[in-house]
Amino acid sequence: MGGFRDECGVFGVFGHDDAANLSYLGLYALQHRGQESAGIASIDRGNLFIEREMGYVADVFDEARLSRLPGRSAIGHVRYSTAGDSSLSNAQPIVFSSGRGPLALAHNGNLVNAEEIRRSLEKEGALFTTNSDSETILHLLARSKKESAAGALVDALAEVKGAYSLVVLTKGEILAARDPNALRPLVLGDLEGAPVVASETCAFDLIGARYVRDVEAGEVVRLSAAGVESIRFAFPHPTPCVFEHVYFARPDSLVFGKSVAGSREAFGERLAREHPVEADIVVPVPDSGTYAAVGYARESKIPLGLGLVRNHYVGRTFIEPKQSIRSFGVKVKLNAVREIVAGKRIVLIDDSLVRGTTSRKIVKMLRDAGAKEVHLRISSPPTRFSCHYGIDTPTRRELIASNSSEEEIRKYVDADTLGYLSPEGLFEAFGRPEHATCAACFTGNYPVEIPESGEAEEPSEVAAGLEVSN
Ligand code: AMP
Repeated sequence: MGGFRDECGVFGVFGHDDAANLSYLGLYALQHRGQESAGIASIDRGNLFIEREMGYVADVFDEARLSRLPGRSAIGHVRYSTAGDSSLSNAQPIVFSSGRGPLALAHNGNLVNAEEIRRSLEKEGALFTTNSDSETILHLLARSKKESAAGALVDALAEVKGAYSLVVLTKGEILAARDPNALRPLVLGDLEGAPVVASETCAFDLIGARYVRDVEAGEVVRLSAAGVESIRFAFPHPTPCVFEHVYFARPDSLVFGKSVAGSREAFGERLAREHPVEADIVVPVPDSGTYAAVGYARESKIPLGLGLVRNHYVGRTFIEPKQSIRSFGVKVKLNAVREIVAGKRIVLIDDSLVRGTTSRKIVKMLRDAGAKEVHLRISSPPTRFSCHYGIDTPTRRELIASNSSEEEIRKYVDADTLGYLSPEGLFEAFGRPEHATCAACFTGNYPVEIPESGEAEEPSEVAAGLEVSN
């Protein structure tokens, strides 16, 4: 179950003197996509170099380390996974040496049939060194009879199902591939004539590269001395992930060719039309609710009030590995501005409600600071289903909306009223119809079939404890 909950960012640059440094900067801009490990691989005269470690990009790499990554081509990866998988052996890029020469691979997304493929490869004697689903692709690639790496990659991709935005570094080329559903983002850019690829365009902005286009659904793009070539390996059925726009991607990025900030404002405007309320100020939960709150305030004509302040020097609460730290994390990260909220009727805006624990603490924080009323508005529909394509979501048991009614949730978070954006509102504001979008976490409609056991519940701690005492 290695990659089951990976959230990641990838980067690649071909044919530039500063390849390793550029990768470092690219990963720095993609840090929000994964905070657990960071790695860069480079190739110089056919030799592969790799540096990767647990930690933030800025902590993993210093000048000395970057100088150990020579060569004019490099790829990089940032990764987050849940506690069970947080080990260096799962850090990427992963490297491999075969008859075709050395190869490094960085993967964002989650394969839904990796376990199945892995079991059959192991039966035939394949040895896996990590428990990450990405390694499956490397094994399939190595087994292909095709001479070219691109041909072998296409063979491998014919076997795997699920979400993958991949970069592969080999001698003389970088291959960038996106699954036929284009679930996770991957963009192609240009830096002074050197082609670059990244999960999001914010990485291009930092290094001064120009966005050219998205790598498309079912496409492998080959970056080499011959330029940029495109190989279509599967019929495209694009269903990009709406949650990238709701929460995950950076607002300054273009994702799936659209501004993330623009989508969030549109979700907020629509939310204001669907769930109006009389109030004095619209307060965003920073930073996740900020753009939706701007949209809500504009549409409702209720002024925006920055009644919560975020301390930016701590990691995102949700991704602390232990529940105890996470609960504490909300207080560490957010504080109410008493002068702004005291005596006010507040519309509190956040992007999503997952377990409900964050909202509950924030509502309490606002009330303790003197807020008269707190009306919680969520700029996406209730999160009822787990993601199988690479966004970290808890099991269904822990998703408050899969077990409770809206009224029960309102009571739990102790809001005066609660309103979620409707699925129709989400698709309309996103500008894509449901059949051309993955919104499985909200609707349960999975565009790529998930394994039957996929929705099986992991026993909760309480249930597991009861089993033992029986
Ligand atoms: P909670 O309801 O306490 O589980 O947390 C919900 C908050 O976590 C929301 O404010 C979101 O901004 C944030 N969030 C939602 N999904 C994720 C995710 N996959 N990774 C990190 N944070 C998330």
